[in-house]
Amino acid sequence: MNRHLRDFESALDIARAASLEYIAQLDQRPAGPAADLATLRARLGKALTDDGVAPAQVVQDLARDTADGLTASASGRFFGWVIGGCLPAALAADWLTSAWDQNGGMYATAPAAAVVEEVAGEWLKEVLGLPASASFALVTGCQMAHATCLVAARRRVLLQKGWDAEQQGLYGAPPIRILTSRQMHGSFKRAARFLGLGENQIVQLDSDDQDRLLPSALEQELARDAGAPTIVLLQAGDINIGAFDDFATLIPIARKYGAWVHVDGAFGLWVNASPRLRHFTRGVERADSWATDGHKWLNVPFDCGYAFVTDREAHHGALSHRAVYLTHAEDARDQVDWNPEWSRRARGFATYAALRQLGKKGVAELIDRCCRCARDLSLQIGALPGAQLIWEATINQGLVRFLDPRPGASEEDHDRRTDEVIAAVQAGREAFFSGSAWRGRRVMRISVCNWQTRDEDVRRSVAAVAEAMMQQQERVPARP
Ligand SMILES: *Cc1c(COP(=O)(O)O)cnc(C)c1O
Repeated sequence: MNRHLRDFESALDIARAASLEYIAQLDQRPAGPAADLATLRARLGKALTDDGVAPAQVVQDLARDTADGLTASASGRFFGWVIGGCLPAALAADWLTSAWDQNGGMYATAPAAAVVEEVAGEWLKEVLGLPASASFALVTGCQMAHATCLVAARRRVLLQKGWDAEQQGLYGAPPIRILTSRQMHGSFKRAARFLGLGENQIVQLDSDDQDRLLPSALEQELARDAGAPTIVLLQAGDINIGAFDDFATLIPIARKYGAWVHVDGAFGLWVNASPRLRHFTRGVERADSWATDGHKWLNVPFDCGYAFVTDREAHHGALSHRAVYLTHAEDARDQVDWNPEWSRRARGFATYAALRQLGKKGVAELIDRCCRCARDLSLQIGALPGAQLIWEATINQGLVRFLDPRPGASEEDHDRRTDEVIAAVQAGREAFFSGSAWRGRRVMRISVCNWQTRDEDVRRSVAAVAEAMMQQQERVPARP
């Protein structure tokens, strides 16, 4: 018997009870946090003791001190940013991941974790409709999935020019240009920064009225410098309206000029798992690399993104490593050969569990249901008096705006009103939405990514927005 068993038992019992208490109250608890910054700092900023604290006490205090500083982002009424919930099997598998404390870096350090990850990678390609031959990596999020795919892209486009970036570095290398649309997510730009590609090498081209990169703009830019090493970034679901580039048209154009095509599908790539919705992603499987998330739409706990690369040699060549003290697998998959990290969380367990819980049909139903709820939310909120539907959700992202009722109100007044209503909704804490700017105007985003969101949540959330608008109405200042 482990002589520390009692310590583990008492700490874990408290963690289990606190976890279930949070989950049990998700339908009732406020969507936003109650405690403010000063309260949280005062409560959590304890003096670090010399002698430490008993494990059970530490966990008990942590659960108590943080309770009202948590959002209900795991609930069905949280529509801020793009934040998924957590499936029961995935959460339990994530607990086990910590209890087992495996180093998921190599087969030798954690054999079961390596095999589970190998299987999860194959399942993901199947569900997402990506080429079965693609290599993959389970990383911390889409940000690092971009970085992982980009090191492979950088390697290949420079090798084609006779430059080995891994050996020679980038000093003196031919510059790599990156062509994309204005819908690019900031995480891609950061990845380009990490990798020394430079933000200034990114050219953002024009889009059409549905925020899709214009094929003529891409072709023109490619032709301007036909021989240059080039990466084309395409969008599968942008954060405002869930816009999809026209992959079937754009990828062959990029191919013609030898460019590497990378797809940001942080959440949007998941529509490829739905027979009803996969028309949006037609042709996406012809790209060179894809980045997506598990912690958003698949609803696994945070710390989970996926990178996929068709050119296995470029991926492996950029990241693989040999060291005499390591034990490299002959037949098995060593994650260190595909991942940017060395020691790492065995994060494949949660993905494996989520996919097994849902099955292929379950994933499709989850995606379809979120899209239906997003459409209902955008139409119903957009139909409230004083609200304006800006984008009826075609997938899981919709946009609305709130209008200043005073006669002669300007667009700036409507911007202000929109931010005031968003703040009032957040303060009401029944539902949570966040804001954005789209085509120069303030909007409230409706982003549905949670497996738990149902019609009842839609009803309550629309009512919460109506209530917040009413409060704002009463506070309209008289115009001088
Ligand atoms: C969330 C998001 C990212 C970044 O993903 P992380 O998992 O937060 O690193 C990239 N692109 C898009 C479109 C996103 O929505």
